[in-house]
Amino acid sequence: MNETLLIRSRRMVVGDGVREAAAFVRDHRVEAIGDYDLRVDADRTVDLGDLPLLPGLVDSHVHVNEPGRTEWEGFATATRAALAGGVTTICDMPLNSSPVTTTVDALRAKIAAADGQCAVDVAFWGGAVPGNLSDMEGLLDAGVVGFKCFLIDSGIPEFPPLDRDGLRAAMKALAASGAPMAVHAEDPSQVTTPSSASYDAFVTSRPPVAERRAIETVISAAAFSGARAHIVHLSAAECAALISSAKAAGIALSAETCPHYLFFAAEEVPEGHTEFKCCPPIRYAVNREALWRALGDGAIDGVVSDHSPCPPSLKGLPDGDFRTAWGGISSLQLGLSAVWSVARRRGFSLADVSRWMSVFPASLAGLPSKGRIAVGCDADFVAFDPDASWTVRGADLLHKHSLTPYEGRTLTGRVTRVWLGGAEVTPDDPPRGRLLARGGGPLGG
Ligand SMILES: [Zn+2]
Repeated sequence: MNETLLIRSRRMVVGDGVREAAAFVRDHRVEAIGDYDLRVDADRTVDLGDLPLLPGLVDSHVHVNEPGRTEWEGFATATRAALAGGVTTICDMPLNSSPVTTTVDALRAKIAAADGQCAVDVAFWGGAVPGNLSDMEGLLDAGVVGFKCFLIDSGIPEFPPLDRDGLRAAMKALAASGAPMAVHAEDPSQVTTPSSASYDAFVTSRPPVAERRAIETVISAAAFSGARAHIVHLSAAECAALISSAKAAGIALSAETCPHYLFFAAEEVPEGHTEFKCCPPIRYAVNREALWRALGDGAIDGVVSDHSPCPPSLKGLPDGDFRTAWGGISSLQLGLSAVWSVARRRGFSLADVSRWMSVFPASLAGLPSKGRIAVGCDADFVAFDPDASWTVRGADLLHKHSLTPYEGRTLTGRVTRVWLGGAEVTPDDPPRGRLLARGGGPLGG
């Protein structure tokens, strides 16, 4: 029998609002939600007063890179950083680990590597690449949350892109499962070689039309196959109208963007600072504002980190060349504070942030007990001080590498306490995260 917990907050994110409430937890789950002064016998009572309580974040887009590229990141470091940032569930991407997660054996290698190391709960994406159609059913049976594919070079030779017909075939193969196909949507025919090492040349080489053409390909594959499609890391805001129209036409389509597209703008990327390089690129301020409008009107469904670190040597700093530097932004621990810092200025609430960063990614990954403070859901909570101001020092973060484009930035809002399955946890505690299959059951064995 586990300890019972009663937790009170005058600003609890419940349903689609923020209200005074108390949550009663038994056996790792929320058993009841009542008024702030709910009277019930509990082994432990926590009264947060005016400090907001949010559902733990679900970050459905994290590159842990273990096994095989554990010098880039790893389960121990990534999940401790996640916990510190209020993320209580991550979904690991099928690259850039080695092997890439395109077979059941590779998933077993992931599970073996992750087991016992994870400070938060972890689920896994499978990879869809040319030639692995026959592996997809096994991966689904083994518990992947869905599949990730590229339509353009991924940078990893063993994870090649699908062409239009390959995408259609893979989506047909998973349609009956209801699991999503998450697509890196840039069309290679619209991408050019940058004319110089500058950031402007890099942005110009990967224009919005590359995203738009690829999303058209995805929409037509979704219509053809009946499978659910998801656009990862949308950067080009002009695609929002296309996505909304497809949704309105009944296509099962969703889209995420990332904190760095909402926080930074190309105008402020200093030359040579390749820690800002990612694909598709961070675009200009006018695009950033349009992304915010797309989030506000629901064209974009969620915000997840796309935490994708590498050893700093691969960025070629201090005089980085945007043509040759490895792409990927490190931000797992910072997503909530970064998004809140800029969301609050635009009039969004903590309930909006929870919808983007907890509710939606949990639903995308098929984890019904995650992402909400609701009866029957896992008691994963984050106490978050929305007014605390602090300055990012990469060296203080728990990522494997300290390099991050947020270095020196002052953020508003800070995670103060975290509960995982009803137990208060810190990054220094022995890891108690579980490995989850789509549906929320245990993975592995
Ligand atoms: Zn990614």
